[in-house]
Amino acid sequence: MKTTGGMHRWNRPFASCVVWIVLCVASPATGVELTEQARRLHRQVLVFDAHIHLISRQFYQGGHIGQRYADGHVDLPRMREGGVDAFVLALYVQEEYYPARYETKQFLRLLERALAELEANRKQVELALSGRDIQRIHRRGKIAAVLGLEGTFDVDGDLALLRVFHRLGLRVMQIAAHNWTSNYSDSCCDSRRWGGLNDRGRQLVREMNRLGILIDLSHASDETIEDVLEITNQPVVVTHGGLRSFNDIPRNLPERLAEKIAAKGGLIGVQIGNSFHSRRFYEWLVEREGRKFWERPRVQGNLAQMSIEEIDALLRPSFPSVGPQAPTGLLMGVDEWLSVVDRLIELVGEDHVILGTDFDGGVTPPREIRDVSDLPVLTAAMLKRGYSERRIRKILGENLLRVFSAVTR
Ligand SMILES: [Zn+2]
Repeated sequence: MKTTGGMHRWNRPFASCVVWIVLCVASPATGVELTEQARRLHRQVLVFDAHIHLISRQFYQGGHIGQRYADGHVDLPRMREGGVDAFVLALYVQEEYYPARYETKQFLRLLERALAELEANRKQVELALSGRDIQRIHRRGKIAAVLGLEGTFDVDGDLALLRVFHRLGLRVMQIAAHNWTSNYSDSCCDSRRWGGLNDRGRQLVREMNRLGILIDLSHASDETIEDVLEITNQPVVVTHGGLRSFNDIPRNLPERLAEKIAAKGGLIGVQIGNSFHSRRFYEWLVEREGRKFWERPRVQGNLAQMSIEEIDALLRPSFPSVGPQAPTGLLMGVDEWLSVVDRLIELVGEDHVILGTDFDGGVTPPREIRDVSDLPVLTAAMLKRGYSERRIRKILGENLLRVFSAVTR
């Protein structure tokens, strides 16, 4: 999730028209075309997306994951069209809005909604607790959902809470409290309080290892990443990120840390949005919003005095959470996105790169991609660039399945 202060709605007909103009008029030479070969290969490959925001929209706006929406990026019908076989369903509490006394409660409300939606759509999707579950669910032709926690103020560094969340099905968890400093760790984009992890944070890492919860280093500070790598006895992942060598923002990784994560068997997930990878889009966005996307948004109202339902109502208009539409020609193409993947392969090898789209987490995707249903375009771009079928399989799913299976065994 990329914190967006503004509230942007993606109007589908208009958006399609913008995409059409960009693709067909402004830069026809640079667009990636979806070939039949790519379509076929994409269908065969097990696609495991490390980060999708599927439930916030239903929690705040109503509706169901099984219906096809005209806006936003994700729902089950469009995930099927996009060939998604498994995904980490990111549960995210807007820490800036829910005061401390509501944080854990809000996580549980989202979790309840997620479990109920998975149950109601059990013919199409099923909760996966291990790598073996994913394979079993995939063989039945269903989508496997892995529960992930984004921004861990909700755990409050409490091992008992971590253990009960694990019992409820949580299998992926960020060690950072989204972009902010918590009582146990520093994050990418806030003041440095602990210089990484404190003792509480170190205990949390050990307990996640023991329980079999995959550690997600997205949003962590460099020092926190170093500390986790020193302690963990399991491989770790960055579910959705990018490289500072493409866009020098604290939310992205320095190349030396990407190398260190991979050296311990870990994975780097490439997020799908423009603001992570395209410097020109990022600068345009900063200018437009008057703030950097990873900085604390301005929140209206006296939250301390509000009921949790009043806070829900305050947030409601920001869902589905999609990034702003950019002017024609400003968006990166899938080919440009793929240069980040290329660089990572050069740095850490094809066994350590994965996809973590962050759909409905405030992203503005590359110009050939409207939503999750367009994911086969990535396969087309990879084929066009000469990637082997084996490499494509690894990046789109096998690498994450390998590490998730090892951690949840
Ligand atoms: Zn995020």
